[in-house]
Amino acid sequence: MKSIENRLLQIKDNNLFREIKYLNSAQDKYIEIDDERYLLMCSNNYLSLSNRKELKEAAINAIKKYGVGTGGSRLTTGSYDIHRKLEIALSKFFNREETIVFNSGFVANVATISSICDEEYTIFSDELNHASIIDGCRLSKAKIVIFKHNDMNDLKKKILNLDTKKSIIITEGVFSMDGDIAAVDEIVKIAKNFNSLVMVDDAHGVGVLGKTGKGILEYFNLNEEVDIYLATLSKAIGTEGGFISGKKTLIDFLKNRARGFIYSTAISVSICNASIKSLELMQSENLSESLSENIKYFKEKFSEKFNNLTCESAIIKIPIGSEKKAVEISNYLFKNNIYLSAIRYPTVKKGEAILRVCLMNTHTKEEIDLLYNIISKFY
Ligand SMILES: *Cc1c(COP(=O)(O)O)cnc(C)c1O
Repeated sequence: MKSIENRLLQIKDNNLFREIKYLNSAQDKYIEIDDERYLLMCSNNYLSLSNRKELKEAAINAIKKYGVGTGGSRLTTGSYDIHRKLEIALSKFFNREETIVFNSGFVANVATISSICDEEYTIFSDELNHASIIDGCRLSKAKIVIFKHNDMNDLKKKILNLDTKKSIIITEGVFSMDGDIAAVDEIVKIAKNFNSLVMVDDAHGVGVLGKTGKGILEYFNLNEEVDIYLATLSKAIGTEGGFISGKKTLIDFLKNRARGFIYSTAISVSICNASIKSLELMQSENLSESLSENIKYFKEKFSEKFNNLTCESAIIKIPIGSEKKAVEISNYLFKNNIYLSAIRYPTVKKGEAILRVCLMNTHTKEEIDLLYNIISKFY
C-alpha cells in the first residue's frame, strides 16, 4: 500500500489528480451538481438524445416486459429478440451486411482486435488512437507498428516494410481528443495496395459527420472498403454499448472468438430498445443539421481570438499546455456555472493539456458566446 500511496502523491504533485463529480440531474445541456445548475460544454451526448422522452419510454417498456438484468452471456441464455432487432437496425442504418453488439465500445475494440490479430498480422495503428484500441493491440499476438498521427506518408513508408503475411490498419474516424477527421479515403487506397484490412472506430463520427449524420462512411462515401466498422451507442446515439458492423463472415467469427462478447453478460435489453428508438429519431429528425450549424458558428466566434482551431466535428480542442493553467481555467468556468473539464495526461501528452469542448445540437449562439467571453479573458 505504501508504494501506491507514493504514486498517488506523485499524481497530486503533478496536478494530475482527478476527482469524480456526481450529477443529480439527467444528462442534458444543463445539468445539476450539488443543486447548482451548469451549462454542459463537454458531453458526448451530441444530439441531446440521452434524456429524450421517446428513449426513456422505450427503455421502460422493455423493462416492463423483460425485467432489468439479462441473466447470461449472449451465447448462453442472455440473448433476446430485442438484441437481434437492434443489430438488424444498426446494419440497416449503416448500410452494412451484419452487426454484433457489445456491452461497450471499449470492449468492442479490445475483443475485436485481440481476436482477429494473431501472430500472422502486423497492426498499423495511428499514434493518437483511443486507449481501447491500444489495449486491443497489446492483447493481440500481432506485431504493432505505430504511424504518426493521420500522416499518410509515414503510414506508406512503414507499410512498405511489411514482413508478416497479413496486415490491418486501424484508425479513429474523428479523433477523440483533437476532433480532426482521419484520412480514411487515403487509408483505404493504401490498404488496397497491401491487401490490408481497414478498421475504423467511428465513436465520434456517428450522428455528426455526413449529410445525414451517419458518420465517417457517409462523409467519405465509403462502405465495403472499410472492413471493420466500429462505433459506440454511448455518444451521439445517447445510450450505451458498442458494436461492429461488417460482412457476415466477420461477425460470425467475432461471435465465436471475441472474448469480451463470449464471456460477459449481455447488455441490458432496455438500453437496446432505447437505442433502436434513437436510430429512428436520428433519421426522422435529421438532428445533426443543427449540430453542424453550431460547429460552424463556434469556428466563426472563436476565430476572433484563436486561429487554427480545428472545427471539423463536435469536438473542438483548445490547446492550453500547462496542466495547472488548464485546471485553473476549468475551475474558473465551473465557478461561472459552465462545466468544461480540463483534459490532462495520460489522456493527452504531458505538458499538452487541453480544454476539449463538445458541442451539442441544442446549444445556442448565446451559450457559445458566453463560453467565448469567459475563456478569452485568459488570453
Ligand atoms: C468513447 C470511445 C470508445 C469507448 O466507447 P464506450 O462505449 O464509451 O466504451 C472507443 N473509442 C473511442 C474513439 C471513443 O471515443
